[in-house]
Amino acid sequence: MTLIGPDLWEDFFKGGRLACARLISTVENDAEAVPAILDRIIPAQKGGLRVGITGPPGVGKSTVTGALARRALRAGRAVGVLAVDPTSPFSGGAFLGDRIRMQDLGDGDRLFIRSMASRDGHGGLSPATPYAADVLDAFGLDRIFIETVGVGQAELDVLGCVDLVLLVLQPGTGDVIQALKAGIIEAADLFLVNKADLQGTEALLDSLRFLMDISPVRKDRPFPPVLEASALQDKGMDEVHAEVERLITACVDSGRYRDKRRARLEREIRSAIQRELWSGYAALADADQAIRAAAGEIVASGGSPYPFIREACSRIRIHLDDERASRGKK
Ligand code: GDP
Repeated sequence: MTLIGPDLWEDFFKGGRLACARLISTVENDAEAVPAILDRIIPAQKGGLRVGITGPPGVGKSTVTGALARRALRAGRAVGVLAVDPTSPFSGGAFLGDRIRMQDLGDGDRLFIRSMASRDGHGGLSPATPYAADVLDAFGLDRIFIETVGVGQAELDVLGCVDLVLLVLQPGTGDVIQALKAGIIEAADLFLVNKADLQGTEALLDSLRFLMDISPVRKDRPFPPVLEASALQDKGMDEVHAEVERLITACVDSGRYRDKRRARLEREIRSAIQRELWSGYAALADADQAIRAAAGEIVASGGSPYPFIREACSRIRIHLDDERASRGKK
């Protein structure tokens, strides 16, 4: 397990970019180190707002992210960009492309850009992305853009870790149907039809408005705004930036921001407990073999798996009690 020494923490809290990069690499590569890191960074968070930018490959998400990041910087914000790369961490052409497109943002102290590999290989968030955003928040960045690729089920992960979802589409593709199927349409807080300089923009705007009209799941929330822009020409992006800021303010004022944080912590607590319990069981010497043997027997005999499960659970309890008792003795 990676140990984060006091020097690194000191650098991080003084604004050291290398220390920040190091912490992100650690949460990315070493799940066991995450709890100790969260212990330090969660109390240090300053309430940075997280904006997820999602949509199919090639619609212009990086260009849009660049345009928004630039505006946020101009407005005096400290900005983080997490680009979740669907290919491998440092070999993908997309990664390089993203970097080049971002270069014109300049590299001030108020901007931190990071590319992350998507572990599931489908372009969704890597499991470490929320932790990386936590690191950037504790680093003092107040706008954190998280860019993912695709409109599949995997992108719904975005919801768990961001305060606002911006769905980017472009005219002339059928991606809206795929987004609809995956539930992304319901999840979005703001639609952006990018490449409005291309043909088919009106038709796409119409179909999005129509979808909004007939969507039964949106009734509890206001209709998301539908905007159009040409990020490449930097047209319409002032409006998109203003709308993002307006939605952020509304999210904070309505208490939704706090609700989302609470839900995220709830998930974290649940999954950590599940992980711990499982590792308590897996630590028993014969765990794997016992499960395999039990499943084989159940298939052969046609019995219920629950006697085995009850027995296993009581063994974990005993194991945890043992552990507690031995810690108490120390
Ligand atoms: P991503 O894969 O969604 O991140 O998309 P990129 O930002 O990499 O853009 C994909 C391509 O679309 C690039 O060649 C961009 O220059 C181009 N592009 C981005 N925005 C626009 C736009 O508003 N209009 C047009 N015509 N092209 C754009």
